[in-house]
Amino acid sequence: MKRVLLLLPTTGYRNGDFLAAAKKLDVEIVAAANYCHQLAPSWGLAPIMALHFDRPEQAADAVLREINGHLDAVLAVDDSGVELAALLAERLGLPGNPAHAVRRVRDKLAFRQLLREREFLCPGFHHLPSGADPRKLFPGLKFPVVVKARRLSGSRGVIRADDCAALVRAVNWVRAIQSRADRDAEELGLVVEDFIAGREYALEGTLNQGELTTLALFDKPDALDGPYFEETLYVTPSRLPGALQDRIHQEVARACRCAELTDGPIHAEAKINDQGVWILEVAARSIGGLCGRVLTHFLGMSLEELILRQVVAEPLAVVNTPGEGAAGVMMIPIPRRGIYHGLEGLAAAQSVPGVTAVTITAQPGQIIAPPPDGASYLGFIFARAASPAQAENALRSAHRRLHFDIRPEYPAIEAPALIPGRP
Ligand code: ADP
Repeated sequence: MKRVLLLLPTTGYRNGDFLAAAKKLDVEIVAAANYCHQLAPSWGLAPIMALHFDRPEQAADAVLREINGHLDAVLAVDDSGVELAALLAERLGLPGNPAHAVRRVRDKLAFRQLLREREFLCPGFHHLPSGADPRKLFPGLKFPVVVKARRLSGSRGVIRADDCAALVRAVNWVRAIQSRADRDAEELGLVVEDFIAGREYALEGTLNQGELTTLALFDKPDALDGPYFEETLYVTPSRLPGALQDRIHQEVARACRCAELTDGPIHAEAKINDQGVWILEVAARSIGGLCGRVLTHFLGMSLEELILRQVVAEPLAVVNTPGEGAAGVMMIPIPRRGIYHGLEGLAAAQSVPGVTAVTITAQPGQIIAPPPDGASYLGFIFARAASPAQAENALRSAHRRLHFDIRPEYPAIEAPALIPGRP
């Protein structure tokens, strides 16, 4: 029986999907989590140890001290664990991406430097070290610019600024977000880069000994022009002309080679305008949230099963059926910060033709916030239809039927009315 160490994130959407895939494939899972096992939610599996994924060197030492028996692979459920997974695979002599390659693509500054060196289309960028005064960048900037934390994901800590005053505000805000989210924020600083105009696309792929297979190219039909960059719609297959789709594949494949990524899932974001294909990011992980479920129909298995099969070196039987219609997912955006209480219209949304599921992941009582502060969603709407346009319409129509009850965190206390005759 194959045995895989699975790195589970606290707030993982997909822990359950990976465990289900392991059960189906008869793979033994040993779990390590970035939360205390006494507080572990009921995944049906108690993690054997709690680790700080954001301190990969220390965490890897702890795993190597405690782990018993052989392992066939180490797999991270999401972005938070990919560096640790790569480091452990390297130290245990298991297949996977080199740890330095994974570390570099997670660092937005290092990745930009790589793109520039290897002559990709790359926006002008500046490093703003921790504590440095953003005003010293003013003379070199051409607005609008994008301010971003070096090592966050999900559009958290990414803000467009259109002038000097907005830049100073954005820098202060992103620094605050980064220091709450990342223990090593002090060493990191920010990236300030030119805003790239254009339409955005996401490529979901898998690398096998350096060879990239594109599993899906997604259109993002909603403009992502900022000032904050909350993702909403992903629709596949892309409506771009075939030649441009090939171009995106080629650029992402070249970026993976230059970054020395070799194996496992790839999620890349690109913008296209009349200058060409701009790689925004290449991440050594699969698509976030529950979005991967949109691909089950095309892959003939869940994305988690495909990833797990790949790490345990099962033959990959990817049944890609591009002729069979279109699919889409909406990451249901959080309209404003507050406490989530519930929703209305679920049945109406689910009954929209083409909608295959509406899954609400926010929990009543949970404090929610849109980007740039937060990086989660209210839930996900899935659709399948004959064409991408129909899938997109179904998602929009279902979303219009949902009404979320989100209340302020600290309700304003009304002044008590003065009752005559009482002291
Ligand atoms: P994350 O890893 O948090 O998703 P990204 O660097 O990919 O961070 O940025 C998140 C989103 O912000 C992108 O998907 C894109 O919509 C927008 N964005 C980031 N950088 C730029 C840029 N230079 N120009 C235009 N939009 C950008």
